[in-house]
Amino acid sequence: MNKDKYIQVSRELIDFIDRSPSCFHAVANMAEELEAAGFICLQEGRKWELQAGQGYYVTRNGSALIAFNIPRKDFAGYQIMASHSDSPVFKIKHNAEIQVDKKYVKLNVEKYGGMLCAPWLDRPLSVAGRIVVRTQNGAEIRLVNIDRDLLVIPNLAIHMNRSVNEGYEWNAQQDMLPLFAECENGKKDAGGLLALIVAEAGVEAEAILDTDLFLYNRMKGTVLGVNQEFIACSRLDDLACAFASLKGFLAAEPGKSVAVHCVLDNEEVGSTTRQGAASTFLKDVLQRINAGMGRSEEAYLTALNASFMVSADNAHGVHPNHADKADPTNRPYLNEGIVIKYSANQKYTTDAVSGALFRLICDQAGVPYQTFHNRSDMLGGSTLGNISNTQVALNTVDIGLPQLAMHSPYETAGIKDTACLVAAARVLFEYSVQAPGDGIYQLQK
Ligand code: ZN
Repeated sequence: MNKDKYIQVSRELIDFIDRSPSCFHAVANMAEELEAAGFICLQEGRKWELQAGQGYYVTRNGSALIAFNIPRKDFAGYQIMASHSDSPVFKIKHNAEIQVDKKYVKLNVEKYGGMLCAPWLDRPLSVAGRIVVRTQNGAEIRLVNIDRDLLVIPNLAIHMNRSVNEGYEWNAQQDMLPLFAECENGKKDAGGLLALIVAEAGVEAEAILDTDLFLYNRMKGTVLGVNQEFIACSRLDDLACAFASLKGFLAAEPGKSVAVHCVLDNEEVGSTTRQGAASTFLKDVLQRINAGMGRSEEAYLTALNASFMVSADNAHGVHPNHADKADPTNRPYLNEGIVIKYSANQKYTTDAVSGALFRLICDQAGVPYQTFHNRSDMLGGSTLGNISNTQVALNTVDIGLPQLAMHSPYETAGIKDTACLVAAARVLFEYSVQAPGDGIYQLQK
């Protein structure tokens, strides 16, 4: 692959992320792409009539999505890549408008997930998410995005907080509320946020029953570095993996196994929701594929044994200003390929078997890979793989793309690595992992 190709993939990724200011928008954009590629939308609440040789997708809560491609002949197992749609963000509370000195209006927000607070300040922000509106006999969901610079969370001047550069504890209720409006003539512009949402959604104010609205960073993603070698963008964790998984999925020719592109929600808050990795969503879909193809319960269990899951969630690259924070002998760098993550206490699912199988996949795709371990004196994060395995136990590897500033609203990565994951995902989806005997594994097309 040449440089222009890497930059093109990175620009496509930036475009996808800029069009996806919330997890709901990310899922809607993926659904639209799947529709355009001929995939059929299924509803969890209806009977599934499945056909060999056809692709389908299903969403849960509008924030998780599973797409799958059924081979033309009977299938061996499932080849799955799982990523997540959510990112750490500030969620707007109900009754959000707070007046200050009858002069300003700010919005009351709360944390969703564990973000770096400081980079949310002093930059244009706006609001996106979903509203639920009243209909004649119930309610329906509408996505909203106030597509303009709307808010800012101003820092306190250094003159009023002299020691801030020696370290500061950000208080979410005190420090992180965005400035929204001024009060004209000392009167609070009551319902200003609601008026904006109403105008954007084209509904009556009284029709809005409830909302899930979030702040987002307005700064567009960009390619930078002296030779255009880096990408800086919002929500790279984990939309870069979700994007690469979808690209590889759409490019893959159906193989012997069912290809499964799986994007779950709520990873940043522990995954224990009905659309998170701890839910039955993936298991339900795999079982329904099995039943929909008229296969027995034993055939399902046999298929699980011949399945492989790649849990794809971004990884920490070595930081240029903090190179000592990385493990002394496992040092992932930007642009040096997919990161295979290991943890002795199994925070990551990777073991010698799943690690070896993923290396075979990378070799087949012709892409480089590197390894990550936490420093032995540091606790790392956790991710989807081991949580998902409590619902449906699969041979699983944890991987990710190397990045810096994880959980900042503007993260940095390499331009090459996303394209590497697209290529590896394609191989994953075209091949199948067979385990004909204990300790023997085959990667077959
Ligand atoms: Zn993540």
